[in-house]
Amino acid sequence: MRIIEDLHTHTYFSHGKGSPRDNVLRAVELGLSAVAVSEHAGGNLFYGVRGKKLQMLNAELRSLKEEFEGRILVKNGLECNVTGFGKSDIPKNRGDYDVIILGYHKGVAYTNRFAWHIFRESFGGRSTPKRNAESIMAAAEAGHADIISHPGLYLAVDIPYMADCARQLGILLEINSSSLSMSVDDIKTAMAHGAKFIIGSDAHTPERVGDFAAALERAKEADALGSVVNILP
Ligand SMILES: [Zn+2]
Ligand SMILES: [Zn+2]
Repeated sequence: MRIIEDLHTHTYFSHGKGSPRDNVLRAVELGLSAVAVSEHAGGNLFYGVRGKKLQMLNAELRSLKEEFEGRILVKNGLECNVTGFGKSDIPKNRGDYDVIILGYHKGVAYTNRFAWHIFRESFGGRSTPKRNAESIMAAAEAGHADIISHPGLYLAVDIPYMADCARQLGILLEINSSSLSMSVDDIKTAMAHGAKFIIGSDAHTPERVGDFAAALERAKEADALGSVVNILP
């Protein structure tokens, strides 16, 4: 089995530990063909990267792309947040990014009713899986997201509905190696609805880049390895 790429990694630009370069070096060491730095987008009040800092990060990734050309493909990603019903902080210049990940997170600004719902449900309030799935998939479609991160983490989601949308829109569901948010049954259900998966390390330290162990085990248990796009058997 070979890991092709890890598109979900963080750095000290948000609340991770290493530099973008450290993540790239680790990915080279592992023999990956691509790696993305996909920092938390600005809508996250706790650790979103925005303004000058985001410009600096993007500049650093541009120079890493050049420096490592021929050795590894460095991708410029962003992990965006659902900020309202069908809304997200996927940036207007979405085309400047190689990878857009979208997920539910705690700590988005409470400027609308659905943002309050995210707050309440993520802290144990009433769960609305169908509505949550509708909201994130509408936001993903509107913003042209590539990947839904850790489905079911913080907010429960209706897996059949999410998987149907993901299949229709060509969006990948992440089996997150740091937060195993999808159960074996969830993965089986999503697969039965035609969804494809991507494994992400969600590394917050360079050492964890490409650490797919937990997610691989779960995918194996669900007999879903054939539906994971970033590994080769
Ligand atoms: Zn996340
Ligand atoms: Zn993440």
